[in-house]
Amino acid sequence: MWIYLNDAFVQRDKAVISVFDHGFLYGDGVYETLRAYSGRIFMLSQHLARLQRSGNLIGLDIPIPEKDWPALLNEAIRRNGLTDAYLRITVSRGEGAIGLDPSLCRRPTVVIMAMPFQPYPSNLFREGVKLTIAHVRRNLATALSPQIKSLNFLNNILAKQEALQAGAFDALMLNSEGQLTECSTSNLFFVRTGRLCTPSVACGILDGITREVVLLLAREQGIPADEGVYEAEALRQAEECFLTNTSMEIMPACQINNLPVGAGRPGSLTTRLQDHFRSNLARFLG
Ligand code: PMP
Repeated sequence: MWIYLNDAFVQRDKAVISVFDHGFLYGDGVYETLRAYSGRIFMLSQHLARLQRSGNLIGLDIPIPEKDWPALLNEAIRRNGLTDAYLRITVSRGEGAIGLDPSLCRRPTVVIMAMPFQPYPSNLFREGVKLTIAHVRRNLATALSPQIKSLNFLNNILAKQEALQAGAFDALMLNSEGQLTECSTSNLFFVRTGRLCTPSVACGILDGITREVVLLLAREQGIPADEGVYEAEALRQAEECFLTNTSMEIMPACQINNLPVGAGRPGSLTTRLQDHFRSNLARFLG
């Protein structure tokens, strides 16, 4: 496997970073995960813009200009002989002496990984996944903004652990006010009285790129959609529920805290949006 590290493609066993890297020591860095379909990357410029935004929000200069990323990502796909790929860009503060001061690090560490895309088992899409509501709350947005896609993912990892312990696929997180936010690596949608609902960005979520695409497709389809503030209680009246992210696209959820959502199987609006997503996919590929 070829991995891009700082300024060159190297073999996996040579792709090693220092134990003094502040990404390792402090989670000081940012990342993006991307998906390529037949060699073409989904919403590429939006992912690159988000990487830039995350960098700006932590005062980290992304050392590769935005215009140079597509060629590097394509090279990562090509060198590894991939077509359908999962890509990850990681940019950490870099190697430096112990201490929180970012100026201890001379230059950021940049990594690009490209791996074969591993599809989720098809029965999850057919039957829907089980969710649990996490006890751990979503990071307070004013303390650590979920809009920074940072290497510090412990909040989400704690939620995921709760889900796995409960035998669920993932955990929904509430914010400090008890309002719905998102899952550990995906955004939440549900359907209530025929309307598509999703927590607004102000609830303290990452503004997912797939979420944006789904909202756009819903608008185009004339499906009424609301970005709002919802208590967990709202899910009890939900007719359908699904999650979105770059690798899952649209994943139906059939159970929350052991209670069925609607009829306990993927609903018609979810299926319609999945179909629409697939048939419009080419529009969103770089
Ligand atoms: N929320 C969180 C916390 C995530 O990590 C992700 C995955 N990047 C998402 C939502 C979904 O974002 P996207 O659709 O851009 O993959």
